[in-house]
Amino acid sequence: MGSRGQVEGELKQKLDEEGSKCSILAKQQNFNERCCIRCCSPFTFLINTKRPCQDCKYNICKNCSSYEKKEKAWLCTVCQQAR
Ligand SMILES: [Zn+2]
Ligand SMILES: [Zn+2]
Repeated sequence: MGSRGQVEGELKQKLDEEGSKCSILAKQQNFNERCCIRCCSPFTFLINTKRPCQDCKYNICKNCSSYEKKEKAWLCTVCQQAR
């Protein structure tokens, strides 16, 4: 009794920590100037260029962005799904 619930609780905590890794980094000063807010990959000149999201205004990489032709602007995956 109780041991199974404990294991599940630990697993959930682990997942929560994983998920919050990016948001912790994002709070660091200038983090978003150097790295993508969504996947935390560093921006590199020409190869992985920085583009601002139209909605949340964070800088995102090419993997995390999609182009909105109508608005001629970039959207991050999160904002695109939220629309
Ligand atoms: Zn990214
Ligand atoms: Zn966004």
